[in-house]
Amino acid sequence: MRIITALLCSLFLASTAPASAAPGEPVRDYPFEKVAENTWVIHGPLEMPNVSNQGFMNNPGIVLTSKGIVIVDPGSSVQAGEMVLRMLKKVSDQPVIAAFNTHIHGDHWLGNQAIRAAYPDAPIYGHTEMLAMVDAGSGDTWVELMDKLTEGATKGTKVVGPSQAVKHGDTFKIGNKTFRIHHYGQAHTRTDIMIEVEEDGVVFLGDNVTADRIPRMSDGNFMGNVSAVDKILELDAATWVPGHGPTGDATMVRAYRDYLQAVYSSAEKAFNEDLDSSDVKAISLQATTKYKDWAGYDDELGPQGAQAYMEVEAAEF
Ligand SMILES: [Zn+2]
Repeated sequence: MRIITALLCSLFLASTAPASAAPGEPVRDYPFEKVAENTWVIHGPLEMPNVSNQGFMNNPGIVLTSKGIVIVDPGSSVQAGEMVLRMLKKVSDQPVIAAFNTHIHGDHWLGNQAIRAAYPDAPIYGHTEMLAMVDAGSGDTWVELMDKLTEGATKGTKVVGPSQAVKHGDTFKIGNKTFRIHHYGQAHTRTDIMIEVEEDGVVFLGDNVTADRIPRMSDGNFMGNVSAVDKILELDAATWVPGHGPTGDATMVRAYRDYLQAVYSSAEKAFNEDLDSSDVKAISLQATTKYKDWAGYDDELGPQGAQAYMEVEAAEF
């Protein structure tokens, strides 16, 4: 009996385990969820890009305007971008008329290729610093990394960077909606934009704020990120869309801010007590227990503590 049960279990597991994708295979369907009036988000998987999620892990968003659809962050590969377009058609039959990329990390924008192929005239907006980094070859590094992490599932993906540079304070009237750009210097990266949809009280935060996932901070700055979040919170918006994890209210935004602050304060404590950068982790483990179940926590806390320590040191001089 035990053998039969084991056999059935293994058969069951075999049939339900995520199949590894063949190179270039379509990304499976992840539906859009309505989060506000005229706004939908696909809340992507929380784990790192891998074979089973085919590299797809971010939160693509769409805003329906009177002229058509605006996309925010179409995903990590041409296949992810195609999936976003496929899912979008279940929400609206309107064409895509513009897209925004929140920052340089490839899981957010390599899907541009699919948007450009289907809607060649739609402008794709990104921060000036992002365009400079794509020009310098950063996109190629991301294409290679995705291909490696997914064992070829993103094959065929090519670098299609933003076509138009934006900066802090720019506003775009698209149909009946106003999109306002917020950029507060180096935060999660040097390239971050947060996009406010004024009429609907919606803010797309990029990875300046995440929920249920600790993102890499190696291109960012802890206090820069805290300060960017404090500034955006002045908006008093109703719906906040993080770069990863569930959409929420200002409580969700403050929770991530408090995480960054806790890591930085742990580094300050270590520095002031003449401890080393490697000692920050023990202190930050105590200070961040609320976040211990977030994806990426175990991998990121050590390196983030060491990074925050360097920032504390730099701030002392
Ligand atoms: Zn990022």
